[in-house]
Amino acid sequence: MTLPSHETHIPRRTLLGSIGAAAGAALFAGEARAADPAGAVLDRTSSIRITRLTPHICRDRVYVKIDTNHGISGWGEIKGVVPTVAAALASSMFEMLDGQNPTRIEHLWQVLYRAERNQRGGAFMLHTIAGIDMALWDITGQLWGVPVYRLLGGPLREKIRVYPTDKAIKVGSGPQPQSGNPDQIERMVQSVRNAREKVGPDGTVMFDAHSAVPPAMLIQFAAAIEPYNLLFLEEPAVPGNIEVFKRLKQQIRIPLAAGERDRTIWGILPYLAEKVLDIVQPDCGYTGGISQMRKIATLAEAYMTPIAPHCTQSYLGMTASFHVAASVPLFLIHEAYDDELLGTIVKPHWKRTDDGHVTLPEGTGLCVDVNETALAKVAADPNYKYRWRGPKLDADGGVVDY
Ligand SMILES: [Mg+2]
Repeated sequence: MTLPSHETHIPRRTLLGSIGAAAGAALFAGEARAADPAGAVLDRTSSIRITRLTPHICRDRVYVKIDTNHGISGWGEIKGVVPTVAAALASSMFEMLDGQNPTRIEHLWQVLYRAERNQRGGAFMLHTIAGIDMALWDITGQLWGVPVYRLLGGPLREKIRVYPTDKAIKVGSGPQPQSGNPDQIERMVQSVRNAREKVGPDGTVMFDAHSAVPPAMLIQFAAAIEPYNLLFLEEPAVPGNIEVFKRLKQQIRIPLAAGERDRTIWGILPYLAEKVLDIVQPDCGYTGGISQMRKIATLAEAYMTPIAPHCTQSYLGMTASFHVAASVPLFLIHEAYDDELLGTIVKPHWKRTDDGHVTLPEGTGLCVDVNETALAKVAADPNYKYRWRGPKLDADGGVVDY
């Protein structure tokens, strides 16, 4: 399909810009409609263009800024990729974004994802696209003067339930041996028991197995914690073999949740089709951003499965995720941690409430302010230089999952 010229070429934008008077613009739009049916889609977003992409490496992540010719800039967060690599990849992808209309978010997502068949998918590509996608939504929301969740269909709730809070606690496990002795299992059970005592019978307890408890031990453990009524047991196994999840689902009577390491609708689909998950946990920063996270939520909705978004992003990526959480029907609870250092860089426009929620983001776009001076300060501090976390080792020195 050939796009109308105002969606493809800069010269037309210049032409539009030269028509100063509103009456002139209206006359032009009317004439365009009469002469060219595609002119009917002409609106105030038609002349905006991406002019620059700037990646800012900051500790273990990259904040990416996208500028436009309309003086509007958007921000996104890339995490879970070596930051120097993420910055280089985002800069390289700018080749495909330069001069494009940033409001064509889904189109640009497809451009980036399908640009090179042998690089499609995977953490490096999807996490980087996520940051760019957030920035495009940020720009588009600002352009229309609304928070992003308004562009996603509007809010389905007045506040977003989060954890950890006084009444919602998640405990978890590090790597465990292939077969557990009673005292090894009891230590994990005790952490669940303590959490339940702390939140009381009207509170929420979750357990994160971090894919680090081998299946045989997890089955024993899950049987032992049944009396404590967990909201979910997270990451019961390493993603990759659906048969392992099927075996666990057959033998565990606690709701199972996973999805933080599955990045697209195609990654999530097998869990739903095989009915092995009760809750899906997309991470806005890992799934390719707001665009793909929303699709995952819709896919899960078709299976009557709520999302409980995973989130270890700072307030930028977290707020992007809140916009999705606000605007999908089946939502359970959202992970949300404060990061003191990164909190000096990104100021979000929502508040935590006393009843374990956050208010809906207020403002336009993502509804965050980025302090570029504070960002530059952290970025320049050698103490925050990224280092690989490295593998977890078993008692015998072998590498184990986590
Ligand atoms: Mg987890």
